[in-house]
Amino acid sequence: MTTVVPPAAALPLAFAPRLIDWQRRAGRHGLPWQGTRDPYRVWLSEIMLQQTQVSTVLAYFPRFLARFPDVKTLAEGAPDEVMALWSGLGYYSRARNLHRCAQQVMTAHGGAFPRTAEALQTLPGIGASTAAAIAAFCHGERISILDGNVRRVLARLLAFEGDLSQAAPQRELWGLAQALLPSAPTADDMTAYTQGLMDLGATLCHRSRPDCTGCPVQVLCKAHAMGEQTRFPVKTRRLQRRFERWWLLLLRDRHSAGTRFWLERRPAPGIWAGLYCPPVFREEEALRASLPSSLAPRLQALDPVSHALTHRELRLQPMLLDVVDPLAALVDREQDGIWVADAALASHGLPAPVRVLLQQLS
Ligand code: SF4
Repeated sequence: MTTVVPPAAALPLAFAPRLIDWQRRAGRHGLPWQGTRDPYRVWLSEIMLQQTQVSTVLAYFPRFLARFPDVKTLAEGAPDEVMALWSGLGYYSRARNLHRCAQQVMTAHGGAFPRTAEALQTLPGIGASTAAAIAAFCHGERISILDGNVRRVLARLLAFEGDLSQAAPQRELWGLAQALLPSAPTADDMTAYTQGLMDLGATLCHRSRPDCTGCPVQVLCKAHAMGEQTRFPVKTRRLQRRFERWWLLLLRDRHSAGTRFWLERRPAPGIWAGLYCPPVFREEEALRASLPSSLAPRLQALDPVSHALTHRELRLQPMLLDVVDPLAALVDREQDGIWVADAALASHGLPAPVRVLLQQLS
């Protein structure tokens, strides 16, 4: 990565000491992944926190750690079990990379995570900002994180006019982030600084309504001085979500011992790859045609469910069929599928909206 270091006079050099002081006094301290220099825990929390709210991760993190307390147990775990514990967090490529990364740490690094951000970035699923967070928190490396929240904070602090939907301005901002680091930090300083960047972005410098009155760097903030906080970060290309309609065939087998559902593993690559899901069709006709003609009239259309992914807006249309003869209902299905009892749904990796739907139908 090319690092652009501007003249020191152009940067608010009081930023780092102010941020460190504020984080120690008023930042977040009680999160379960704080107060440790264990790379496994820091890595796991950083991956979970990518594009997921802290309040959601708080429930998942201890559950995951209880089953996989270290990198060795995770590397040895079954992929299905990892996916099941991730189920509901979304962005499932993170879970697949997490598992691959643990295996690589065991096979290529003797069970210990590399210590530098540069080496950490060679592992699956660890990008530059995550690598920086692990190296700064665990080893006090003098390196800056730059996730979406931090980009927003720094773009406002510096009134950075570069278009952050483009690669070159992103690199430039990263260079500025490096230049803003504390000058000769201890490991504890780097922990407070890195956590301070995260805390400022998450708790004060909100996307649409930044709480500038409580901000420790308000006197340094150029966007605040201009009264144009929400004009930054500048992005000319906004995320466009494509709309898609999916028809879900819910085959439900109710019998005296309980209820079970027919689920098929989603193909890779693609949405929900590797997770279990009812058969998916792009058109209602195709769904109906997949059933023996005697069964299609018994389908019930349930209420549709909307589900937003990063690049797509899914409209899920569940079509329920209570089967009497499970084999007859599956006569035309050649997929890799299984019947899953309602009591066993929790131990299978399911997309969040599918899990909710099946629980309602159990
Ligand atoms: S002063 Fe406001 S806009 Fe500037 S960094 Fe602080 S919270 Fe963000």
